[in-house]
Amino acid sequence: GMNSQEARDIAYHLHSYTNAARHLEIGPMVIERGEGAYVFDNAGKRYFEAMAGLWSVGLGFNEQRLVDAATRQMQALPFYHSFSHKSHGPVIDLAEKLISIAPVPMSKVYFTNSGSEANDTVVKLLWYRSNALGQPQRKKIISRLRGYHGVTIASASLTGLPNNHRSFDLPISNVLHTMAPHFGSEGNEGESEEDFATRCAEELEALIQREGPDTIAAFIGEPVMGAGGVIVPPRTYWEKIQAVLKRHDILLVADEVICALGRTGKMFACETFGIEPDVLVMSKQITSSYFPLSAFMINERVFEPIAEESDRIGVLGHGFTASGHPVGAAVALENIAIIEERDLVRNAAETGAYMQDRLNALADHPLVAETRGIGLIGALELEPGEIPGQRGALMNRIMQDKGVISRNMTDAMAFCPPLIVSRAQIDEMMGVVTESLDILQQQMPA
Ligand code: PLP
Repeated sequence: GMNSQEARDIAYHLHSYTNAARHLEIGPMVIERGEGAYVFDNAGKRYFEAMAGLWSVGLGFNEQRLVDAATRQMQALPFYHSFSHKSHGPVIDLAEKLISIAPVPMSKVYFTNSGSEANDTVVKLLWYRSNALGQPQRKKIISRLRGYHGVTIASASLTGLPNNHRSFDLPISNVLHTMAPHFGSEGNEGESEEDFATRCAEELEALIQREGPDTIAAFIGEPVMGAGGVIVPPRTYWEKIQAVLKRHDILLVADEVICALGRTGKMFACETFGIEPDVLVMSKQITSSYFPLSAFMINERVFEPIAEESDRIGVLGHGFTASGHPVGAAVALENIAIIEERDLVRNAAETGAYMQDRLNALADHPLVAETRGIGLIGALELEPGEIPGQRGALMNRIMQDKGVISRNMTDAMAFCPPLIVSRAQIDEMMGVVTESLDILQQQMPA
């Protein structure tokens, strides 16, 4: 009826990532509550959340200890900030904890509230650092096509996806894009994985030479690309990219907003791929998304010039009201403690390997172009139809009818279940995937 939640959502709520006119026709899917890896809609229908929300709800949808941690902190001190010299216990404890688990020696942590804000802040901090170094020309940041780094002005510019640029006059100047490390079924005839990685590094080298090495501050990349379609880089890719960056004294920023805290089967994806970043960005799973919080760590190489020259260049004129929010920090500490206590990183490795086997087993299905992934993040790319994304959207609807929430990135179906997922649940999910492929085959326009 007119007062249904669906009708009121259509009436009042402008959604992210929708075609606004289409939303008026289709309407929302209203989720009401969660239980472990499942959520329930407002008609009581249960769904397996194969995307962990937005690649983010590591502990599942009803972890009472996170609720208790938030409640205790709300009661003790619901808000304080960290502008100027102010601080509070939870943010101090969390900063120390993050430095202690960092995959490489890190020096300081800066807190923000979303992945986008974190990456925007990294860009500004690196510009500030270049000025501190007396190298004001060193302002360019290199990211990659298909990379996703968020939606604020600088982060959207770093993002290498057309939807995030089109209609916004982005990217801003000072942002450059190099090729995506997709060694897929397309266009790699006769080229080995290693040769493809070499070609990626050579393209980066050529871009740096064209622009001038001393104009480039940093390279940013997700260890495994998420929103760009779950792109796992080919063997030797990160080694070769890092060699190029080292040669030119260019900093490396690892955007672990999706990967950090276990997703790839290690605590950080930097460990999985042998990446030694100067800046490491995290968000999403840092609180299992129960509270908006992001953080990035910087090493001494980044911090030192800022500390030494700050009297000369002026205060770091940047910070958000809610940066390092005490409730978010308390939830993050409890979240990390639970991940450690329950050995969920090991579960991501083991149950993740099982999920990858089950995905790979579908590689020969006539509708499947490619399967890929690592740990508990994977994708099944459908053979493209006439209109890109049409099959993916249809597959999404079929799976949703059958009680599994995935997400199609064009025609790549993504799978990123909560870290607490069991083998039995992977079996259940893959059962639905397999049935849905067969239904898709029947329903597909010829
Ligand atoms: N970086 C990566 C790798 C992401 O996947 C995302 C979000 O999906 C972001 C940054 C942006 O984070 P947020 O949506 O919290 O701004």
